[in-house]
Amino acid sequence: MAQTYDVVVIGAGAAGLMCALTAGYEGRRVLVLDHANKAGKKILMSGGGRCNFTNLATGPEHFFSANPHFCISALKRYTPGHFVELVERHGIEHVEKAPGQLFCADSAKPIVSMLLTECEWAGAEVRLKTRITSLERRGEGMRLETSSGAIDAGAVVIATGGLSIPTMGATGFGYDIARQFGLGVTDTRAALVPFTLTSQWRERAASLAGVSCSVTVEVGEGRYREPMLFTHRGVSGPAMLQASSHWQPGMALSIDLLPDIDVAGELATLRHEAPKRHVSTWLGERLPKRLAQAWCEWQGVTEKPLGALSKREVSRLDGELKRWQLKPAGTEGWRTAEVTLGGVETQAISSKTFAVEGLPALRFIGEALDVTGQLGGFNFQWAWASGVACGQSM
Ligand code: FAD
Repeated sequence: MAQTYDVVVIGAGAAGLMCALTAGYEGRRVLVLDHANKAGKKILMSGGGRCNFTNLATGPEHFFSANPHFCISALKRYTPGHFVELVERHGIEHVEKAPGQLFCADSAKPIVSMLLTECEWAGAEVRLKTRITSLERRGEGMRLETSSGAIDAGAVVIATGGLSIPTMGATGFGYDIARQFGLGVTDTRAALVPFTLTSQWRERAASLAGVSCSVTVEVGEGRYREPMLFTHRGVSGPAMLQASSHWQPGMALSIDLLPDIDVAGELATLRHEAPKRHVSTWLGERLPKRLAQAWCEWQGVTEKPLGALSKREVSRLDGELKRWQLKPAGTEGWRTAEVTLGGVETQAISSKTFAVEGLPALRFIGEALDVTGQLGGFNFQWAWASGVACGQSM
């Protein structure tokens, strides 16, 4: 005989656990299924192990979606303040590392413990290492075939996330289910991901691996003022991760290496006021020394005194520093991407209950949907908010 539950949530990640505990407190009999051996694996590895669990500035403008209004309702109803209140009730210490970005003070582990404790208090059962082999409509509800037997559910919530980091258990399960029930899935792309570079630039970046500096990067519609980091394969750091959400193959990044400095103005003045100072000395006072040195070598101006710069050279150096055109070869892809851009199309999904139009027994939440946040805690806030909205409406 099939086991029966009011709600079965597939995916014991951020959105799934939040939905499960909320539905449990609403008095529903809830089961969470996951094929992984541990709940909340991405939470544990997030934010460099300290989980940037929300952003106080969360608003729809920080999300990408073909349907930009879809996220508004859930984000309004469950705010960063609500999650902070939950975190504080569990005595989890946190810090604001950058404006609005809240991280755990020590480790992400207490966030997962908190969610599992709340699931337990709410009576929601979490079953790991379980494979789902099929999902079919059965009367008003759904029938699942799993490696732990058949299960009948009043409603099934798909919270299986996106495609990033397959080694952590990411699959396209949510997209397959969406297609099975006639929903569209947008093109998907790895985002919040480092860039790789081609041979010459790759070698240059590798020689600077570990060096970082604060830049402004522009690509497509995106413009971010954040640190960038050179790596063995290319460029990373918050500026580049953010830029990756706007980048398409073939595009160049326009990077301002000295966003606070009027390079042309300074060089024009210093040509007369400090003519003997070398370009490399000047730049070494404004950028990390290793980067300044390497940059002057790339430009062939290491030994050049400022007084010897022609107007043309000043203009060229200004362009190279303020509008450096860097063309990535690609990105590091799903292996290291933090999120998936795109996902299950939201047009036929209620932004209040997350139920599929005409099929209230099937719901999609979290990153599986075509809603993707910028870097900085927005993706978790979406997971919490969509999970709560769906859980409350069961
Ligand atoms: P997930 O958390 O991915 O959960 C999906 C669950 O479904 C997983 O447990 C998975 O095992 C399970 N699953 C998948 N397929 C199946 C299947 N076929 N059968 C059964 N179960 C399945 N966001 C932030 O806001 N702040 C951060 O600091 C941050 N840092 C990040 C760092 C890294 C390295 C990564 C990869 C992501 C980071 N993110 C961060 C993004 C954030 O982790 C995700 O947006 C968020 O976890 C999405 O929640 P979700 O519940 O929708 O999906």
